[in-house]
Amino acid sequence: MATAPADVLKPDHGTRRRHFIFTDEHEDLRESMRAWVRNELFPHRNEWEETLWPDSALKRAAELGYVGLCFGEEYGGQGGDYFYSLVRSECMSYSGCGGLNMGFAVHTDMALPPIELLGSEEIKQRYLVPGIKGEKISSLGITEPGAGSDVAGIRTTAKRDGDEYVINGSKTFITNGPRADFIVLVTKTDPNAGHDGITLFVVDLKDDKGNHVPGFSVSRRLEKMGMHASDTGELAFEDVRVPAENMLGTEGKGFYHISWELQGERLVAAAGCVASCERMFDRTLEYAKERQAFGRSIGKFQTIRHKFAEMATKIEAGKQMTYATAWRFANGEYPVREITATKLFTSRIACEIADECVQIHGGYGYMKEYEIERAYRDVRLNRIGAGTDEIMLEVIGRSYGL
Ligand SMILES: Cc1cc2nc3c(=O)[nH]c(=O)nc-3n(C[C@H](O)[C@H](O)[C@H](O)COP(=O)(O)OP(=O)(O)OC[C@H]3O[C@@H](n4cnc5c(N)ncnc54)[C@H](O)[C@@H]3O)c2cc1C
Repeated sequence: MATAPADVLKPDHGTRRRHFIFTDEHEDLRESMRAWVRNELFPHRNEWEETLWPDSALKRAAELGYVGLCFGEEYGGQGGDYFYSLVRSECMSYSGCGGLNMGFAVHTDMALPPIELLGSEEIKQRYLVPGIKGEKISSLGITEPGAGSDVAGIRTTAKRDGDEYVINGSKTFITNGPRADFIVLVTKTDPNAGHDGITLFVVDLKDDKGNHVPGFSVSRRLEKMGMHASDTGELAFEDVRVPAENMLGTEGKGFYHISWELQGERLVAAAGCVASCERMFDRTLEYAKERQAFGRSIGKFQTIRHKFAEMATKIEAGKQMTYATAWRFANGEYPVREITATKLFTSRIACEIADECVQIHGGYGYMKEYEIERAYRDVRLNRIGAGTDEIMLEVIGRSYGL
């Protein structure tokens, strides 16, 4: 029988070559941050499900430079490009603790970016600088008990009174809400103007002593299906006074400002979804190679092998979609349709892959001691948070003039 020559081309199944959107510097960050996540976060994943992630974890991330990656050096950041946010999101997915990843992401990729883009110099000094140092924790308040997807339907009002605005209303499902020092708040300054009556403010929730400011309260701490390490609250504002200079961007343009914020948030969420998929895949692959049934490892059954093939194909598609869209976004385009499709696709595959991975684990996949049980509950949020699947489909469909 003829044998292949020694120099025959073989498939590069094991290649770890970096994707072309990333530089050596991005990969250096990935290596150091992964090590930190593995050594300092992952060991606490079970404890934090019970106690919530500690504020000190964010402080430590800030000391290591992981909070300020993409913010201006003049505010204590490193001035890196958008791809650093993707690397951070991917690395955080290896903490094994979705609630921690979400709490961090709200701070680094949702609440602080609008402050840097839209805040005055004084506002950046007061909120962005301590935020980057991890000394203050932020939250983002869009959703209300009566309006989630329908942002223009919010009822929280901000009424001008001299040099201040007076805020009344409530927000719900707010990540970091119970612990936050300040919030980027979506309000109505003109309740009759629809999309053009919405305005953003950055609002202190605590004073210098750490007490809630007058008129603000956490009306409920919410119990969730997953993401248990994260604190989620319903927040009440009763005549909370905020200086007029705390307005972010232009009065009446808050809907468009927050729509911009959501694009960055959705791409970072997509990167996190793909990384979660990889993590679930890797853990389940190990399991499928070890677990024996009918005299062989379960991965040797064609049905199981094909599940891995399907999952790997989806992960690769999700990854390429995320990176290609992020490349356009980072290079000055505003590809809303592609970002929306990427968010939709990666959220869906994360849920599908979590389900398959539980299935491959059999009964052990249903047990809390296996990481996949938590991942299954945690990833479900992705099809709801930052815009539901249905809203993503609406945005994509309407972008064709339908
Ligand atoms: C754990 C968690 C953390 C969160 N963190 C935050 C946070 O930090 N800050 C924040 O502001 N929000 C946060 N949210 C809120 C989240 O963004 C909203 O839950 C989400 O936008 C959906 O809004 P809703 O829950 O009011 O659902 P609804 O808008 O009431 O939607 C209910 C159902 O109707 C569908 N639907 C609605 N409108 C349409 C339409 N036009 N066409 C077709 N279907 C439609 C939806 O897709 C969904 O299936 C969080 C939510 C959760 C669960």
